Amino acid sequence: MNAFSYARPRAIADALRYLRSGAVALAGGTDLLGLMKDGLATPAALVDLTGIEGLRGWSHQRGKGLRIGALTPLVELETSDSLTRAMPILREALKDAATVQLRTMGTVGGNLLQRNRCWYFRDEGTVCWLKGGKRCFAVDGENRHHAILGADECVMVSPSDLVPALIAYDAEISLVSARGQRRMKLADLFVTPKAKDRREHALRPAELITEVRVSEASLARKGTYLKAMDRKAWSFALVSVAAAAKIERGIARDVRIVLGGVAPVPWRVVAAEKGLEGSALDDAACTDAADRMLAGATPLRDNGYKVTLARELVRRALRSLVAA
Ligand SMILES: Cc1cc2nc3c(=O)[nH]c(=O)nc-3n(C[C@H](O)[C@H](O)[C@H](O)COP(=O)(O)OP(=O)(O)OC[C@H]3O[C@@H](n4cnc5c(N)ncnc54)[C@H](O)[C@@H]3O)c2cc1C
Ligand code: SF4
Repeated sequence: MNAFSYARPRAIADALRYLRSGAVALAGGTDLLGLMKDGLATPAALVDLTGIEGLRGWSHQRGKGLRIGALTPLVELETSDSLTRAMPILREALKDAATVQLRTMGTVGGNLLQRNRCWYFRDEGTVCWLKGGKRCFAVDGENRHHAILGADECVMVSPSDLVPALIAYDAEISLVSARGQRRMKLADLFVTPKAKDRREHALRPAELITEVRVSEASLARKGTYLKAMDRKAWSFALVSVAAAAKIERGIARDVRIVLGGVAPVPWRVVAAEKGLEGSALDDAACTDAADRMLAGATPLRDNGYKVTLARELVRRALRSLVAA
């Protein structure tokens, strides 16, 4: 690991000052420190956010929705009974994410901004396209875990379990930098790397995520999260799906279906969601929506199984929204 300077400010304004002078934000360190140990990130300075109390914790005010600080440990989202009452999908999505140790250290902001898990990307000696090289080694190489949808030059997949669950509830994020504050849809944080734009996230330089917000209207949705893994624990999703909808007298409104592990960004197909508006989510409707979600899939040599898996997970997730 390269030598670096370290600061742990208590105020956001001080953290922004360090970021402006080139420091990289450190939260739980479960992704960033691994990248540094492997020589994939070489920051000259780190600014540790864990001293900023205002970024930690969550609150739910009736009528005002849910606010989750970016520095909140994942384990808190998973274990809090009151948070589970407000948004049950969070516990469902996080219970099989990483390990309890990683969920204790890892934070919400860090989870949203974690880098992809492509094994060529994670190998220090391989300079693939995303790392500034000429070609993607996964396209013609070992691509069992890679994208079946929406990829351009890079076929890595969106790895987070938390992200699809939050997007299914139309979550927004708040950001701050020296230029001021802004809000954006969480879905817009994720970028498909292409052409000269070789990045995974739309975070601006020296910008911090401060919180995630979910509106009261979205919290009225019923949701579920399903994850297929190689092993029963400590595995990233081969395919995951978050599905949510407002269910009134057995009829679905505001349907959201978000796939993880299949594309460089969390994958939505608005036509599939709209096709279920006013539906009773019977088996035929759910199967049709699942087919629409996977239309246009272009599997690579080793990952055709993801098409079948994703289609079935979508069907099951949607059906479960109207199960007793
Ligand atoms: C073995 C292993 C298995 C895993 N399995 C899963 C899994 O199954 N599912 C899953 O979802 N995840 C999984 N993860 C990923 C894990 O959840 C993330 O590493 C963790 O959430 C990152 O959070 P952190 O606080 O440690 O981030 P850090 O490592 O501290 O930071 C990650 C990135 O986010 C940036 N950052 C952090 N906070 C902010 C902020 N507030 N504003 C701006 N930038 C910020 C950092 O600069 C860095 O670039 C796994 C990780 C490991 C190592
Ligand atoms: S999928 Fe992306 S990260 Fe992996 S080798 Fe190809 S360009 Fe690199």
